[in-house]
Amino acid sequence: MTAGTPGTATTAGLVCAHHHLYSALARGMPAPPRTPTDFPEILELVWWRLDRALDLDLVRWSALLGALEALERGTTTIIDHHSSPLAIDGSLSVIAEACAAVGVRVLCCYEVTDRNGPDGARAGLAENERFLRAGGRGFVGAHACFTLSDATLEAVAGLAADLGVGVHIHVAEDACDTAAGARLDGVARPDWLLAHCVHLDRPLPGTIAHNARSNMNNAVGYARPARFANRVTLGTDGIGGDVLEEFRVAYARLREDDVTATPELPWTWLLAGSELVPEAAADRVTWAHPTADPWHLAYTPGVRPLEVVIDGRTVLSDGRPTLVDPDEIRAGAAQAARRLWSRM
Ligand SMILES: [Zn+2]
Repeated sequence: MTAGTPGTATTAGLVCAHHHLYSALARGMPAPPRTPTDFPEILELVWWRLDRALDLDLVRWSALLGALEALERGTTTIIDHHSSPLAIDGSLSVIAEACAAVGVRVLCCYEVTDRNGPDGARAGLAENERFLRAGGRGFVGAHACFTLSDATLEAVAGLAADLGVGVHIHVAEDACDTAAGARLDGVARPDWLLAHCVHLDRPLPGTIAHNARSNMNNAVGYARPARFANRVTLGTDGIGGDVLEEFRVAYARLREDDVTATPELPWTWLLAGSELVPEAAADRVTWAHPTADPWHLAYTPGVRPLEVVIDGRTVLSDGRPTLVDPDEIRAGAAQAARRLWSRM
């Protein structure tokens, strides 16, 4: 099968502009002690219990499975936002190595936060600095303004400026973080990556990563990303690595808000990922579908790639990864998931 085969269409590589690979083993985990009733409780009762149970081996299996699932859906680049408060040091290298093994490009960051005390914040800053100074690719990560003191936010912004990279941060995802606009005004820079911006009350410089499905799942409201002049990209926020599916959901959500909207707009959001990571534009994904027209794809679920070429190397052929055994990764990840749940 080669590009140009009848019944196929070829596009650039897709970019997931906001992912949490560490959530890949969450599916099937034990229910929280009680049902969360709002976004802060979802964080406290679900995600902050999960991330505290991660060790480096579990981080590795999460990243292998997440990278595999992205590749199998034509996503050639993952912009990851990582948290493992009891296994911080070295975690970004573990993720980068796992993605390299699968053949998927990754931009890493560690989410700095004050929710685990001052030592946790310092260790998070140090992991970003260690990884980036060693030549790793990514951002300086920060959780969200509502878990960051002014001093820590200043340290995050300062480190990113020193290293010549942007900050990847959750911004006003829920009404609990509406102060983010005021706190980041004058601090955010054009190279920052702003995830969500659902309740953002003012324009900020940077790229917006829109995560329509996650926002619905957490009942935080509709972000209306088109209200800002910023570049908009699409992320899964950890719900798999299928950005083409995320395009469909973003279109459905946009359309629910404005019945005159057309899929061309969310299609520009999908393609804008390669403005953040220009090599993705040279990646080649050949789809088992005769056209890559947004009107077709918006109404055609399940379109999958047959071949994926990243940095000139064929990493998916006839729908199968070429560098790794997907069955081995799934079996190892299933075992790792059981170990993770027992630690929670
Ligand atoms: Zn997120």
